[in-house]
Amino acid sequence: MHRHWLLSLLLIIANFAGQALAQTGDGGPSVPVLDVRTVHESAITDQVAFVVEKGTTLSVDELQSLIRENPAVLQYTKTSVLARGIDSGAIWLVAMVLNPTNESVLRRVSVRTGWLERVDFFFVPSGRRPQQFVSGDALPLNQRSIPKRIASADFSFEPGETQLLVRVETADPMVAPLYMSTMAISQDHEQFETVFYSFVYGVMFALSALTLMLFLVIRKPRYLSYSLYTGSFVAMTASYNGIGMALLWPDATAWQQWAPPLLMLCFTSSGLVFAMNFLNTRHHRPLLHRGIQAIILGYFALLSVFFVLGNQGHALKLAFVVVPIFSGLMLYMGISSWMGGNQSARYFMFGTLLSAIGASITALTVAGLVPYTKLGFYAVDIGMVGDALLLMLALADLVRKNEEARLIAERTARIDLLTGLNNRRGFLPVAESLWNLVSRQHRPICVVMADIDHFKDINDQYGHATGDKVLKAIASELDRSSRESDILARWGGEEFMLLLPETDEAEAFQVVERFRRNVEQLVVKDRGNEIRCTISAGIAGRDATHITLNQVIIRADERLYQAKVQGRNQTCFNTPPDLPDEALAQA
Ligand code: GH3
Ligand code: MG
Ligand code: MG
Repeated sequence: MHRHWLLSLLLIIANFAGQALAQTGDGGPSVPVLDVRTVHESAITDQVAFVVEKGTTLSVDELQSLIRENPAVLQYTKTSVLARGIDSGAIWLVAMVLNPTNESVLRRVSVRTGWLERVDFFFVPSGRRPQQFVSGDALPLNQRSIPKRIASADFSFEPGETQLLVRVETADPMVAPLYMSTMAISQDHEQFETVFYSFVYGVMFALSALTLMLFLVIRKPRYLSYSLYTGSFVAMTASYNGIGMALLWPDATAWQQWAPPLLMLCFTSSGLVFAMNFLNTRHHRPLLHRGIQAIILGYFALLSVFFVLGNQGHALKLAFVVVPIFSGLMLYMGISSWMGGNQSARYFMFGTLLSAIGASITALTVAGLVPYTKLGFYAVDIGMVGDALLLMLALADLVRKNEEARLIAERTARIDLLTGLNNRRGFLPVAESLWNLVSRQHRPICVVMADIDHFKDINDQYGHATGDKVLKAIASELDRSSRESDILARWGGEEFMLLLPETDEAEAFQVVERFRRNVEQLVVKDRGNEIRCTISAGIAGRDATHITLNQVIIRADERLYQAKVQGRNQTCFNTPPDLPDEALAQA
């Protein structure tokens, strides 16, 4: 049996359906008879009768005479568990167990709900005194007849009839699936549960610890709330199913009664806080954000009041009201954020859906409304593991998106938006390393600085927008004419920088002169105007001396200034090379 808010809710609904079915048919009420030889793997609550205890606690004698005098107190359920909601009062499960053999038969009888406060098993062989076993989480582990987290009793049924009476009392949801099985089946079941919960808790604990580490390093609150969400799932279910008491707090009966409502609130609140952090509601939905914060604080305040008043029933009811509300809110936030274009929210939404679907499947299985399978029985935990993994995927998706945004930001920081060429930040690191490489190998390399002539006049005459258009046209002309290995950049307003590796000043001169002539021929058409312009350029190369890129840039700038002074639309170089006459003539 299980321990999940939604599950309990669904079980109660399923149980009403089951009871409606049970009330039709059947003759007069009587105590059902079970054959002790029949081996049952699943719960047998639908094969016994139950009696609701009204008012004071009944003794076995009182119950027996009540049934004798008024058989109508016997009720039946068609579901294999009996679920009656919170604070429903004590119930008795009643059956006659028949052993038609000549030997006694050992059976383990158990009620597999970890949160029940008090479970009393009475075995009454005909004509003999009842034999009693006590259990339930109101008792420290070592005061139970069998010190186990699940209320159970091992009994040897003598030949003949033995009346079986099980009294269950709890302030928590009354969910009472009765089992009667062989010791072997019971041990198999326990072994499976040990392995299964080790897996579920292992995954959840690892995710919780991992995200806590991420929070300690990265300091993003979404990691902390995820860690609390998965961590409090472990704590909450361990408090529900009795594993906490069996392993961690065997004597802390007071804590055991308050832990479920407290941890349920922690679990759902941390889920909601995670949703707020993850979907960044503080930024996108400030009103909703503050509203949810107020609701969470309000619920914790209310819980504290119930704690001070010692009203555990109210605390539980509060928790059971809060949980579906908070889960619904989480789903709503996920869906609306997804519809708002946040792709990471879909993982978030599917995760929340998965845990709800898992809980529903388990509820249908234990209620006997779908055929029993192990997978169906444990679907609630599997759904929660799936939920945690999908939320992890959502976190990873967010990391990927942030990384992409960072790369784009970094790239755009290196690119000039108007011309699409490198800016200084894009140019310098690449140019620097290329420069150092070529210098070490004593290979030729040149720097060219070019500037548009009288560009101010173009702006003045046609306007800034037209100036931009001319700038773009010249930039793409330079880009088109330069080689793959050249590095081109917009250096400033209407200034361009070009690095030409494996090129000496004579070759650079020819390259730049080609540029200059191409620009001279360029006609930019704009609103009926045909705009022409020219550029001036200065070249400086790496000479034999140790010279840095910066020094060469300064020299190229000086040559550019010289070209301007000499009348513009021309190229000047630093070291007058011994150019062959025909090269100069060509230029
Ligand atoms: P010179 O031949 O001496 O270089 O004359 P110039 O007018 O080109 O030089 P100056 O440096 O005096 O003026 C450069 C002009 O370029 C001034 C500035 O407004 C303009 N400019 C700089 N950046 C941009 C830009 O991005 N778009 C436009 N349209 N104009 C720009
Ligand atoms: Mg200029
Ligand atoms: Mg200028």
